[in-house]
Amino acid sequence: YTGPLEQVGTCQWRIPKTYRDDMRVDGLIFADESLIAQIKKDQGPEQVVNVATLPGIQKASLAMPDIHWGYGFAIGGVAATDPEEGGVISPGGVGYDINCGVRLLRTDLAWDEVKPRIRQLVDELFREIPTGVGQRGRFLFDKPKLSRLMEQGSAYVVEQGWGTVRDLGFTEAGGRLDGADPDRVSDRAFTRGYDQCGTLGSGNHFLEVQVVDRIHDQEAADVMGLREGQVTVLIHSGSRGLGYQVCDDYLGVFKGAPKRYGFSLPDPQLACAPVRSPEGQSYLGAMRAAANYAWCNRQLLTHQAREVFARVLGTPWESLGMDLVYDVAHNIAKFEHHQVGGGISKQVCVHRKGATRAFPPGHPEIPDEYHKIGQPVIIPGSMGTASWVLAGLPGSMEQTFGTTCHGAGRMMSRTAAIKLAGDRRIDKELDAIGIIARARGHKGLAEEQPAAYKDVDQVVEVVDKAGISKKVARLRPVGVIKG
Ligand code: 5GP
Ligand code: MN
Ligand code: MN
Repeated sequence: YTGPLEQVGTCQWRIPKTYRDDMRVDGLIFADESLIAQIKKDQGPEQVVNVATLPGIQKASLAMPDIHWGYGFAIGGVAATDPEEGGVISPGGVGYDINCGVRLLRTDLAWDEVKPRIRQLVDELFREIPTGVGQRGRFLFDKPKLSRLMEQGSAYVVEQGWGTVRDLGFTEAGGRLDGADPDRVSDRAFTRGYDQCGTLGSGNHFLEVQVVDRIHDQEAADVMGLREGQVTVLIHSGSRGLGYQVCDDYLGVFKGAPKRYGFSLPDPQLACAPVRSPEGQSYLGAMRAAANYAWCNRQLLTHQAREVFARVLGTPWESLGMDLVYDVAHNIAKFEHHQVGGGISKQVCVHRKGATRAFPPGHPEIPDEYHKIGQPVIIPGSMGTASWVLAGLPGSMEQTFGTTCHGAGRMMSRTAAIKLAGDRRIDKELDAIGIIARARGHKGLAEEQPAAYKDVDQVVEVVDKAGISKKVARLRPVGVIKG
């Protein structure tokens, strides 16, 4: 990217809308000087500009410090559109993996107690939890069951005994988006979803055993039940083949929409349709159904992780204190109320693609338990570095439609990472620094090597300094199973 980037705050860089005739609003990227230098190396900023041309976009086309190039929208992008002003919904602004997200489980276990059994624990997790492309799981849902699952979200699997009512309260949106419409989901997507709920998926998805390394905000950590030296479990997965199919189906449906509704796009990958069009409504119904499937997936992964911990440690999971801290989506579009200037609050469609909701203290949509401290935000880093727990701040409502970053963000393409790895054995390198990694193949681990990602500490520093979310706790990995 060689276009303009004006520093307008300690961590804010603006691409003025005068840069291109077709921009409706400015672009705004959150980064520090060294991250912005990395960000400029790919076409991510130009994608921020492309998004700024979408009909009905409000305030600015935003990007978080973990931004990198993605399909249509950059990963790390945030865009809010107003349906009243012809605002659009775009599958590329949600991503192929609808409701990809992370959840953090706490335990009452100290690292010292788990350390002697960590190898066995990771091996058992790897044996029990299906990983890799297209892997089938042990939970099967025929068409009528899958329809109910997609309508009801997490509550559907919790009712069958695979979780608790408390889990639902600590999941974004209670694990269910209203308005899910399984009739808008294709048969092909149903078929793909039949045996994949409760499976991790490939590549970047993982289940990680961690230790709380450092507390940065004692009050918030206390409320979340986090303390130094404690073992936690981080789960990262989404809607598997079902969500992918929904995205693919609707990219096709939306192809002719610009012509039908009288607008043009700088990049066909931005395929979109007005929220208030039949196509837009169909996608929203299907996207919400896939989002609910993803929450069920993370709930079933939770259930399996709890079973393994209970077996290996010889104690029921409830006695191990394996409670959900929080579950957040980082690929989703939702309708929320936001101030858009002049003190006017209105309902907008917030696209978060590789970005996490970060509602501040007192927001009505976060659990009562967290009202005083703000919404927990969970930021994975990489299998060899740290991950973070943050909490939402009022600055997110003022600047980013209640949003913060979602990870460290890729710095290197998968191909480049494989090339860099050469004949190195990433699992052995990790083992040498006390991290047990299990994956189906060496190639996957090479693609996911820590050097392929930005420095998560640096990314988190930016969102903390910008006042959109604050540091609560830093976590370090001790064992990971990868897709
Ligand atoms: P994405 O949803 O964009 O694929 O990934 C989110 C983030 O997860 C990435 O930006 C990266 O920082 C992080 N990540 C990828 N693999 C791992 C892993 O094995 N462990 C942890 N803790 N984080 C990871
Ligand atoms: Mn993800
Ligand atoms: Mn994903």
